Amino acid sequence: ECLDRIEQVDADVHAFLAVDAERALQQARAVDARIAAGEKLGPLAGVPIGVKDLFCYQGLPTTAGSRILQGWIPPYNATVVDRLLAAGLVILGKTNLDEFAMGSSTETSAYGPTRNPWDLERIPGGSGGGSAACLAAFEAPLAIGTDTGGSIRQPASITGTVGVKPTYGGVSRYGVIAMASSLDQPGPCARTVLDAALLHEVMGGHDPADSTSINAPLPGMAAAARKADVKGLRIGVVRELGGEGYAPGVEQRFSEAVDLLSSLGAEIVEVSCPHFVHALAAYYLIMPAEVSSNLSRYDGMRYGLRAGDDGSASTEQVMRLSRAAGFGDEAKRRIIIGTYALSAGYYDAYYGSAQKVRTLIARDFTSAFEQCDVLVSPTAPTTAFKIGERLNDPVAMYKSDLCTIPANLGGISAASFPIGLAPGDGLPVGLQTMAPAMADDRCYLVGGALE
Ligand code: GLN
Repeated sequence: ECLDRIEQVDADVHAFLAVDAERALQQARAVDARIAAGEKLGPLAGVPIGVKDLFCYQGLPTTAGSRILQGWIPPYNATVVDRLLAAGLVILGKTNLDEFAMGSSTETSAYGPTRNPWDLERIPGGSGGGSAACLAAFEAPLAIGTDTGGSIRQPASITGTVGVKPTYGGVSRYGVIAMASSLDQPGPCARTVLDAALLHEVMGGHDPADSTSINAPLPGMAAAARKADVKGLRIGVVRELGGEGYAPGVEQRFSEAVDLLSSLGAEIVEVSCPHFVHALAAYYLIMPAEVSSNLSRYDGMRYGLRAGDDGSASTEQVMRLSRAAGFGDEAKRRIIIGTYALSAGYYDAYYGSAQKVRTLIARDFTSAFEQCDVLVSPTAPTTAFKIGERLNDPVAMYKSDLCTIPANLGGISAASFPIGLAPGDGLPVGLQTMAPAMADDRCYLVGGALE
């Protein structure tokens, strides 16, 4: 049914970059055989899933949304992909994303934008717009994404779906193409809170192949999603994430959701996180600095696109031409900003200062979590905007992640849950929850209560 649905709608939505119907059907039959042989599989066995095209999946091209990796077929699976297959999930294909996960609209993909199933003239959010749109268009019941500054949560908010950014180190990054390694975190995308929790439990947990993976048991997320009880939970509304620049429809739905949580027995407190106002600025130094280092491996020599190799060109010429042809504008912008921020003489002023701000933001979280169990805010300041609207204004685009970036800088857990449609434009709105590291279950408690 999912394959049929993809056939029907994906020419319009363009959530998928590659679909491997034959292999998906093979995997589904293999699950039947495992069950027939008496193997006890978990609750997601046989469930189809879309995989963001940033995860290595053996045998199918992995492009990261970039021309520079066009046609590259990974020789190995990401740990998360192996875990999906072991649990019997059926991989439909690879979903579209902004180039190297850089963007908030899926418009920087070298393979064309994904459209929002709610309104095909609008963006589905980004960078994981393909993973979110395939859920909203009912092409798949589950998907996986990665979140460096909001790429799971913001598309979830924009498409009326559930998206979770686990605690940094809670889900393995092995085999996930790196954007900014100290911020990147894979996580689940789903249409319901319990589905997301079950997928999170399949994906997550310690992986010796990832040196930043946390070696501790995950909290009980499916149990929390089922419990869905916020009685006595202290919920902090972040004062700095609201007001000017936030769409009235978003603020209205958000305050109604907070009232609902209060009527369900949660204790609502207002909390101030004074350094959050600097989060965007710090992120747009730390992230490009790490991008400039991670993307230096794409040189046209080892894999991916090679341009200008006519037999007489020098190595430097081939590298220059390959990068010029292979990277899009946004990737180039960030490589240049990051290289500048890291260069001698500027390092302390830019990168060093940004790292200090990062510490201050982490301290804001620590003191906030002394006053409450969970923090909440809108996930994104606005609902889905029109395709093309912010493409020539990078700063307007960057502001889409105002609310989501602090959680990445702090390494804590966070999620976005749908809270209805904005009065006015009738488009989905999301509520963000943020909980301390390794207390991801608290996000699911709140999400379950709101559902
Ligand atoms: N939109 C943000 C950016 O462009 C976040 C991207 C992400 O989380 N991968 O960097």
